[in-house]
Amino acid sequence: MNLREKIRVIEDFPEAGIKFKDITTLLQDPQAYRYVIEQFKERYQDYEIDALVGIEARGFLMGAPLALELDKPFILARKEGKLPAEVVKAEYDLEYGSNVLEMHQDAFTPGDKILVVDDLLATGGTAKATCDLIQKLEGEVVELAFLLELAYLEGRKKLEAYDIYSIIIDE
Ligand code: AMP
Repeated sequence: MNLREKIRVIEDFPEAGIKFKDITTLLQDPQAYRYVIEQFKERYQDYEIDALVGIEARGFLMGAPLALELDKPFILARKEGKLPAEVVKAEYDLEYGSNVLEMHQDAFTPGDKILVVDDLLATGGTAKATCDLIQKLEGEVVELAFLLELAYLEGRKKLEAYDIYSIIIDE
């Protein structure tokens, strides 16, 4: 399946110069959406994984169905102020702006093997902050999984310590 053509590109959103990759068009196509989750499942079904972490918000749309397929716990990495229990925090820079991510302190047990899932790897700041949160809770990042990687933004440079898998890579 040609997944690239399922993802709409919006120029200059949310600000001038950004080519926004809009996955809502892919999500509206159940065959394409299922295909994405199946691609991830095929890769990870034989990995040793204790839990998956999805990054707000579109990482939830990739991570939650995959967690169910793999029959593993699903954990939320959320923007500041959204999670109700005790949290750990990490700050990060975006392709546009900066932000704080949080995760519940009791999200998993120290030593757990964690798969991180998001829709898109751009500059890598969001994914790095998520890995920092996992490290604070003494988890082990097994791999980072993305639907789409914008390789020209060199997100992998910030994530040299980690393994990365992207279904689609835009050079
Ligand atoms: P970054 O921290 O720069 O790797 O940005 C990754 C996060 O921001 C992901 O959660 C994406 O959903 C979102 N994002 C960044 N750049 C884009 C883009 N060009 N199109 C769509 N989403 C983006």
